[in-house]
Amino acid sequence: MNKKPFVTREKLEEIARVIPTPFHLYDERGLRENARAVQEAFSWNSGYREYFAVKANANPYLIRILQEYGCGCDCSSMTELMLSEAMGIRGDRIMFSSNDTPEEEYKKAAELGAIINLDDFTDIAVLEKTLGSIPRRISCRYNPGGFFELSNGIMDNPGDSKYGMTTRQLFDAFRILKEKGAEEFGIHAFLASNTVTNEYYPQLAEVLFKMAVHLRDETGAHLTFINLSGGVGIPYTPDEEPNDIRIIGEGVRKAYESILVPAGMGDIAIYTEMGRFMTGPYGALVTRAVHEKHIYKEYIGCDACAVNLMRPAMYGAYHHITVMGKEEEPCDHIYDVVGSLCENNDKFAIDRALPRIDRGDLLFIHDTGAHGFSMGYNYNGKLWSAEVLLHEDGSFTQIRRAQTARDYFATLDFSPEYAYMNGHAWT
Ligand SMILES: *Cc1c(COP(=O)(O)O)cnc(C)c1O
Repeated sequence: MNKKPFVTREKLEEIARVIPTPFHLYDERGLRENARAVQEAFSWNSGYREYFAVKANANPYLIRILQEYGCGCDCSSMTELMLSEAMGIRGDRIMFSSNDTPEEEYKKAAELGAIINLDDFTDIAVLEKTLGSIPRRISCRYNPGGFFELSNGIMDNPGDSKYGMTTRQLFDAFRILKEKGAEEFGIHAFLASNTVTNEYYPQLAEVLFKMAVHLRDETGAHLTFINLSGGVGIPYTPDEEPNDIRIIGEGVRKAYESILVPAGMGDIAIYTEMGRFMTGPYGALVTRAVHEKHIYKEYIGCDACAVNLMRPAMYGAYHHITVMGKEEEPCDHIYDVVGSLCENNDKFAIDRALPRIDRGDLLFIHDTGAHGFSMGYNYNGKLWSAEVLLHEDGSFTQIRRAQTARDYFATLDFSPEYAYMNGHAWT
C-alpha cells in the first residue's frame, strides 16, 4: 500500500504559518469515516459499544467526535476518569479497565457509575472495603496464560503479562462476586497488541464466548456483556495490508452465532476498547528539517524529537515518513532522521531511503494519532507540541496549545533556602 499524507504541502505551510512546527495534525474526515465503519461492522449486535481507550489520545475534541458515533471512554487512571467527567461522559459510558489500582480511583469510578473491570482477584476485597459493597454490575479481566497464536504467526505471550486473572481465579471471582450481590457480569481480555490481521478479534471472541458459557453453567452468573478490549492494529509499514473492520465484525458475529446463540446467550452485548485502530492513522507529526550532518552516516535533524513521539525510541517502532512536496522523487538518499535529545535512540528513522532532504522541508511522520502525543514527556526540558485538527472543509483548529516554559516550570519551587528555613528541607 502506498502511504499518502492526508494533507498537501501547501495546506501544511498554511497551518505552519499560524502554528509553528512541530505539531500533531489530525484528519477529521478519516476519523469520522473510520468511526462510522466500526459502528456499522458491529451493528448486528444491538448492545454494541466501542469504549475509546483514551490513553491512546486524550484530546477532548477527538473524543467528542468519536462520541457522535456512540463511543464511550475506556479509562484506567484518575485523570482519565476526570477527563470523561469533565466531558459529561458518565455511567455505563465509562469502562474502567485499570490495573494496580489505587482505592481512590475505584471510588471515583464508582461515583461516576462507570463499569469497573477488575484486573485482579485480590481487587474484590479492596473494592468491597473501599465502596462498602460490590457494584451490581461488574467485569473481570481474563488471562488464559500460555501463548496466543494466529495462523499468520502473529502471537503474543499472555502468560508473561501482568494483566488479568487465571482461569481458576476467574471462576472463583464470579462465585464470590455473585455471593456478594453482583447481578450483571462481563468478561474482558486483551491477548495481543497491534494485530494487523482480520483474525484476532474473531479468535479472541471464540475464547471469550466459550468461557462465558462455562462461567454461566458453573456459577449461574448472568453475563450481559463481553469486552474484546483493544489490540486491533494498523499498518505502520507500507507493505502491510490494513485490517478490514467489516470482515472483523462478521467474524465476531459468526462466533457469536455458533457459540452464544445456541447456549441461549444471544442477548449479550459486545464491547470493544480500541485505541490505535480508532485514531492511529488519522494523526501525523509534522516537523521541519532544520539541520543536516555528514559524519559516518547521513543525518537529518528535525525540530521534533522523541518527546513528541516516543514509539520509535521505545519499541524501535517504524513510522513512515513523507517529505512533503517530494512524493514523486526517487528515494535515493539513506538517512537517520533524528531529534535533538541527548539520547542516541532519539531517531524517527534509521537507515531510511528517502528523497534528498533540504533544510526547511516539512516532514510528515505518519500514524501518530494513537500513542503519539499521549506518550509525550519532558526529557531534556523539551516541551509538548500543539495539536491541530484539520476539518473536512480544509479549515483547521488548534485543539491543544503547545506547552510553554511557564507550564514546564509551574511545578518547581525556586525558593529552596526559604523552604529550608521553615523546616521543610529538600530530601
Ligand atoms: C491500551 C489498552 C487498550 C487499547 O489498546 P489499542 O492497542 O490502542 O487498541 C484497550 N484496553 C486496555 C485495558 C488497554 O490497556
